[in-house]
Amino acid sequence: MAAFDVIIVGAGPAGCAAAYDLGAAGKKVLLLDKKDFPRKKSCAGMIPASVVKNLRYSVAPVLQRKVSRSRIILNDERSEYISENISLASREEFDHYCLMQTLQQGVLFKRIGGIARIDLSGGVLIRTEEGEELRADVVIGCDGAISTVRKIFWPEVQPAYAFALEADVPHCPHIPQEEICFDFTAIKNGYGWICSKKDHINVGIYCRDHRYIKKADLICFIRKYDLEEPPEISGAPINIGNNATSPAADGVLLAGDAAGFTDPLTGGGIHEALISGQYAAQAVLEAHCGQSFQRYLELVLPLQQRIENKRRCADFLYARIPSEQGFAELLHSAERLTS
Ligand SMILES: Cc1cc2nc3c(=O)[nH]c(=O)nc-3n(C[C@H](O)[C@H](O)[C@H](O)COP(=O)(O)OP(=O)(O)OC[C@H]3O[C@@H](n4cnc5c(N)ncnc54)[C@H](O)[C@@H]3O)c2cc1C
Repeated sequence: MAAFDVIIVGAGPAGCAAAYDLGAAGKKVLLLDKKDFPRKKSCAGMIPASVVKNLRYSVAPVLQRKVSRSRIILNDERSEYISENISLASREEFDHYCLMQTLQQGVLFKRIGGIARIDLSGGVLIRTEEGEELRADVVIGCDGAISTVRKIFWPEVQPAYAFALEADVPHCPHIPQEEICFDFTAIKNGYGWICSKKDHINVGIYCRDHRYIKKADLICFIRKYDLEEPPEISGAPINIGNNATSPAADGVLLAGDAAGFTDPLTGGGIHEALISGQYAAQAVLEAHCGQSFQRYLELVLPLQQRIENKRRCADFLYARIPSEQGFAELLHSAERLTS
């Protein structure tokens, strides 16, 4: 039976971040995913500056353009601009590139049909859907919003799912390419975005409650901005909370979307996935007597607190849309009231 120091389930930003650091430290790491890479991933591909900064390698080859200005719409009468550095990428290219960097650290990658079961007697024993058995000291669940690892170990957790829909449409002259538009009037309890990539516009809507978002809402948003209707719309849930129990137990750590580490205000989670993946690796490397989960809980606590503050800000902000106040002012009031 194949045996590893660490098995990581899911090779997105969280899984690759954890695997990279563990591989670089000389651990024997197996990274499992149910997809072959490059693979499609529903995402706007807005990569925050903090991700570019915190990655262990340059992702310049897969960044299409950098945008430093966002247009914010909080009511139908006016819009305002804020400065924020965001790089734009295709997630298909970005995730594939990160996986290639990770494999260079000696990490092994294996495509599997899925996880059938995980036992924790005398270490971790994973049985794949294909019937293969794999052993490790620790498993890190980085398998996204509908995480199988989370369901196996925390079956009682009922995450709060947000949802986002997105589509690619052709460029058009009336949409400025040097800014991203965030329109909070597009949908209740969420927003619509328009961002110009290298050879198309990505347009989408995010709603904090997965039950109240329909493809028709995105079509309506697309028509509002006179964009061409897309042949295809894709979407996915985002785990934004209710992960009541802790994201770790003896031998099992959860990172990224699997743990609900996403920003409830925006639905973005690449930063949180990267940071929590790196913390998971750090916890494994620093653990004494195999107690990596306790170290991980210490490391992720500030991240969890930041997410909790963002949740309160999101409650405050979305309850006041449409708003006559400016975005910065509104956010400032939210932060004052919630801190
Ligand atoms: C439409 C949309 C737009 C978004 N736009 C942005 C954005 O612009 N910026 C931003 O920061 N965030 C965005 N997000 C959120 C972002 O995509 C996620 O927060 C981020 O991908 C989380 O990374 P992760 O590694 O935790 O999980 P994922 O990226 O979801 O990776 C999980 C991996 O696990 C694999 N997997 C799943 N189940 C199994 C299994 N049972 N066995 C093996 N492998 C498995 C999957 O194939 C996948 O490769 C968006 C989300 C959506 C839905």
